[in-house]
Amino acid sequence: MSTAGSLPKPTWLAEPETLWSPWKLEGDELITGKQDALRVTLQEQETSGIDIVSDGEQSRQHFVTTFIENLSGVDFENKKTVRIRHRYDASVPGVVGSVSRQKPVFVDDAKFLRTQTDQPIKWALPGPMTMVDTLYDDYYQDRRTLAFEFAKALNEEAKELEAAGVNIIQFDEPAFNVFLDEVNDWGIQALEKACEGLKCETAVHICFGYGIKANTDWKKTLGTEWRHYERTFPALQKSTIDIISLECHNGRVPFEVLELLKGKKVMVGAIDVATNNIETPEEVAATIREALKYVDADKLLPCTNCGMAPLSRDVARNKLQALAAGAEIVLKELCA
Ligand SMILES: [Zn+2]
Repeated sequence: MSTAGSLPKPTWLAEPETLWSPWKLEGDELITGKQDALRVTLQEQETSGIDIVSDGEQSRQHFVTTFIENLSGVDFENKKTVRIRHRYDASVPGVVGSVSRQKPVFVDDAKFLRTQTDQPIKWALPGPMTMVDTLYDDYYQDRRTLAFEFAKALNEEAKELEAAGVNIIQFDEPAFNVFLDEVNDWGIQALEKACEGLKCETAVHICFGYGIKANTDWKKTLGTEWRHYERTFPALQKSTIDIISLECHNGRVPFEVLELLKGKKVMVGAIDVATNNIETPEEVAATIREALKYVDADKLLPCTNCGMAPLSRDVARNKLQALAAGAEIVLKELCA
């Protein structure tokens, strides 16, 4: 089992329960602080029983902008407010020139994490479509073209992460739940470009975002069943991506749509990140059992719905333990 990505940061590193929280340290102290936070988050995952571990995104402020900050052609001084994912306004940087990756972004962090554990490591990067949708573009002025430029930069980073010992590279694409025509037109192709030549496993995480109000309000407008997956899963099933990560618990995904992903591994979100209520192991087990009707047991990876960065550390830890305990119940049933 695994987590979708981010986990809460220690209060000495950044303001808790806040997105885009500023760092509390600087210079060499910040570097050491981030490494200490990596050790802590790793230890919490391992003692909770999470077997595919991650950096919990301890060394980045935000899952998209931290990567973009390290590219040329992006202006961070003159931010503009744009509507992202069709639902909330955010002050974002802009593309003002040719974008390219100037230096490794997360590679040193991945190398460090590799020295700390023998467990498989999953590393999250933003997906090309979600990157395009998290800034304004005064240069290419074409979402598809920009997505393929980002895919090139992501591919360079992904190859170095693989060489650093990362076992699964995950691309976060919440935009895949919003721009359904674009997903089929170029979104999946851009993702495949980002994965080109990788020998490690690749994953795409499609979700409804953190449990912030704009997202929970939006989810209420999506009807009683989230059947839009029927439009994008057939193309994802044919794609080169190995693993599809989805929000399943407390959502409105009709589980039978998972059938459309036959042959792929599925990371089944069995922990709701939009509530502080801790799932019982039995609730987690029920979600996994439901998914098992449509996904083969050897292809199902229990997971959280999304990242847990905005939650308190106690809540996040208890949720990780519930996830592991619930998965254990189902594993026993399968082995009985
Ligand atoms: Zn997510």
